[in-house]
Amino acid sequence: MPNLFEKELQKKSIFKDRDAISQHYSPKELPFREKQIGEITKILSPSIKGKKPDNLFLYGKVGTGKTTVTGHVIKELEEFAEKNHAKVSCNYVNCRNHNSKYKVLIKATKKFFPEENFIGYSAGFIQEKIMEFCRKENQIILVLDEIDKVKDLDELIYSLSRSNDEIEKGSISIIGISNNLMFKEKLDPRTKSSLCEKEMVFPPYNAEELRAILKARVELAFVPDSVSDSAVNLASAIAAQESGDARTAVMLLMRAGEIAENSNSKKVTDVEVQKAKKKVEEDIIFNMISTLPEQQQLVLKAIAVLSMSTKGIKKITGQEEQGVLYSGEIYEKYKQLALSLKESIVSSRWYRQYINELEMYGLILTSASGPGIKGQTKLIKLGFSPEKINSILDGQLGK
Ligand code: ADP
Ligand code: MG
Repeated sequence: MPNLFEKELQKKSIFKDRDAISQHYSPKELPFREKQIGEITKILSPSIKGKKPDNLFLYGKVGTGKTTVTGHVIKELEEFAEKNHAKVSCNYVNCRNHNSKYKVLIKATKKFFPEENFIGYSAGFIQEKIMEFCRKENQIILVLDEIDKVKDLDELIYSLSRSNDEIEKGSISIIGISNNLMFKEKLDPRTKSSLCEKEMVFPPYNAEELRAILKARVELAFVPDSVSDSAVNLASAIAAQESGDARTAVMLLMRAGEIAENSNSKKVTDVEVQKAKKKVEEDIIFNMISTLPEQQQLVLKAIAVLSMSTKGIKKITGQEEQGVLYSGEIYEKYKQLALSLKESIVSSRWYRQYINELEMYGLILTSASGPGIKGQTKLIKLGFSPEKINSILDGQLGK
């Protein structure tokens, strides 16, 4: 009998390099982003000459290449600086994992003082360490990806820019990145004017562009002829229609590849892409929900719970609409849930903001009450099965 592992490793795979079709892979070529790459390069170039680049704010929907493009330019900058003995130091922090001023500062300091551990020291002390590094004529570029996740962002931006103004040599510049199109409008005016000295939007990709991106990835990731052209077209069309998001496109092909791998045909066709669509949708919802702030998760939970228990609304006309909820009843339910979990309760203004964002993420649909209903209120409907959303939230809210 052959050894189990020998048998396993002898199995033919349709993947040549599976990492290349992962959503975290950074390809060397980034077509359709030449303009953004050029502009970011131009904005950062003063650092090579020992001058402070403007702060920069990048935004656009998920999967429009912000993280990859920034990573690419930063890498080129560091390579060039090193070759030319320029003191430029870039530092990438994903604020999804480091979601407060303190955590960002700790993470940022790690790169400059890798041997030391500053956990437990005051924020002021840690920041002083960063400035100490700057004063040695270093230009620091601090990339804060998913910057909207930082709870006390105003304080972080304010204290970094104040420190920057105080030092005579060296500087610290911030590149903030956000997937949230409304985030900029929510910023405190002072934070906004500091962070958005320069700003840039990453537009969605169309189906043509997604197809070209996917084709290049397929060549890297799959063995030849294992993915049909029409599968690539279908994945691009689906992703373009949903959101113009290269991440969805890449995830669709990866999931389709896994499905094909486990079947006898060992070829990715439209059928596998169609099957992958459901899985990817679930992955994306899961990912989105798990990164929402806890209060927003509670609002979503209130919607899911009510959707499961109520029949829908009855209009004056006698018509019933399924799964539709009043904004006011959701807020009441949310308050109940927050109380039972001993969480604080956000004001109704914040609650409305959360509702707007949930809609932007596609998790809910809203409409004005319109004729047939007394008074003026917002009607809200869940975009996905309430049972599914509820079960994801139960895992998240620690219940
Ligand atoms: P964002 O940060 O805007 O959410 P990412 O930079 O994470 O988007 O990109 C999502 C996925 O799409 C990654 O796998 C990335 O490599 C790929 N991608 C995005 N834009 C391009 C592009 N122009 N060319 C090739 N791949 C791209
Ligand atoms: Mg990103």
